[in-house]
Amino acid sequence: MKNLLLLFITGCFTVNLCYAQPGKTEITRWQDDKKGAVSITWDDGSINQFKVALPLLNSFKFPATFFIITGQIPGSKYHGKFIGRPVQDIIKETATIPTNKNNLFERASAASYLGLIGPMDYYYNAGSLVDAGKTDEAIKLIDELYSKVRNNQFKPGIQHNPEYIDAHGTTWDEIRKYAAQGHEFASHMITHPRLAILDEPNMLYELTKSREDILNQLGAGYTFSGEGPFGTENERVMSYAHKVYPALRNRMPEPWLKEITRSNKDNPGNTDKQYIQFQRGATTKTPMPMMKAWVDTTANKNNTWLVLTIHGVDGIGWEALSHQQLNEYFAYIKNLESKLWVATFGDVTRYMRERQNAKVKVTNNGSITVTLSHTLNKAMYNIPLTLKTYIPANWKTVKVTQGGFTQTLKPITVLGKASPYIIYRAKPNKTAIVLKGV
Ligand SMILES: [Zn+2]
Repeated sequence: MKNLLLLFITGCFTVNLCYAQPGKTEITRWQDDKKGAVSITWDDGSINQFKVALPLLNSFKFPATFFIITGQIPGSKYHGKFIGRPVQDIIKETATIPTNKNNLFERASAASYLGLIGPMDYYYNAGSLVDAGKTDEAIKLIDELYSKVRNNQFKPGIQHNPEYIDAHGTTWDEIRKYAAQGHEFASHMITHPRLAILDEPNMLYELTKSREDILNQLGAGYTFSGEGPFGTENERVMSYAHKVYPALRNRMPEPWLKEITRSNKDNPGNTDKQYIQFQRGATTKTPMPMMKAWVDTTANKNNTWLVLTIHGVDGIGWEALSHQQLNEYFAYIKNLESKLWVATFGDVTRYMRERQNAKVKVTNNGSITVTLSHTLNKAMYNIPLTLKTYIPANWKTVKVTQGGFTQTLKPITVLGKASPYIIYRAKPNKTAIVLKGV
């Protein structure tokens, strides 16, 4: 009897016909109460990403994230170089001290800067071995490299890696123009290095000086996201990189995010975590129906963030997709836009973090007043959150005012549920939001 009385007081008669208290407010999981999020990310900054894919993205009004190799852009202050003692000293030392765990990273870091053609391939392959946890094999490879260097088996010259070579053709002026159109630009380091095999000074040079060029050219808002090349998740790299970039596509630090990387074939299943990052790389080998199925999965769940990774476009860059494929795929995503929030990698990260660190307070005395705040760095975490507030059943329209800005909204009523509500965007850490019914 007591329970029944309580049910009457709160207005709940059955589970399906439950009156939420007017004023009850929640932050929706995704912007605009969408069912899922999609970030379209591009690696390496090859020219057709800007000449072909970016205008296509604009035609669909999709903001995207471009991870760029800063050393290749004219006007950048920092370019690839070896930070350390003279390379001749290192070469000389390799004749008497075999490569070991203590000198591996210095020798690998110097390999691209010996003024020879060929050593870079050894460094790239050895870096891939370190990423795979095969440090002993990497040591053997670097030892073999320096014995060939000492025996003059390489021709003199300057060598660059394929990603760096493909990354030319755009300028900072153009990038500023694209950024003003809503796209995010983020670091893919100075030279597209194998970070896991670099020593501390050279790894920090790639991480921090790439950030510095982006800061000087584009401003602080673009120093938020980063991607260590080859999707490295090497622990040593992550420990440095997370101190430089708040959001890394390689891996995120939050306990409330389940991550499915590109190499993991799992689909987003059930989880007790708030969010799933579902990372998928679209390459020439990926069938279009599979690419579409990733989008369907995201639209049909409520906690999934599809992070697409694309490289080449129309023959330029690694595993290039054609503009016809991109057009078909973007049109498919556009068709599901009522369910999907398409936003940059940085903005989805900001939204999730703001929501996870936000507080909502409500007072209800005729009008409803909502205050929204979060505890994060306000300069870095500055995007609006979407609120869902239940309102009295007799409100036919609702005026929502925050600061000088007023929106007039129609209440939403879900069949079988008696409490109407409204959905609106609000800025955290600003003046209170006032809801008035008419
Ligand atoms: Zn890359």
